[in-house]
Amino acid sequence: MTAERGPVIKLTDAFTDGTTIFVNVRSDKYKRAMKGDAIALAGVIAHEAWHVTHGFAEAPAYLEQLRVLRVLGATKSDIRAVERAAAQSRR
Ligand SMILES: [Zn+2]
Repeated sequence: MTAERGPVIKLTDAFTDGTTIFVNVRSDKYKRAMKGDAIALAGVIAHEAWHVTHGFAEAPAYLEQLRVLRVLGATKSDIRAVERAAAQSRR
């Protein structure tokens, strides 16, 4: 029997329509927050909040996310993941 594999879908952690921030309650960051570690989710919300206030440019939204992660003492792994996402968004 061959295992069937569907497309790999990367669910976003959160997004905004420009007014409201929607958080994906199935995301790992949300699940971590529910267990008491809300730093990564706070970074995501800071990113989306930047979009709500300033518009849809990605580079400054990622800078805000990284700023919040560093202020809150995020792990190097979480910071690196956001730095990678920021680099991807510039391509
Ligand atoms: Zn963004």
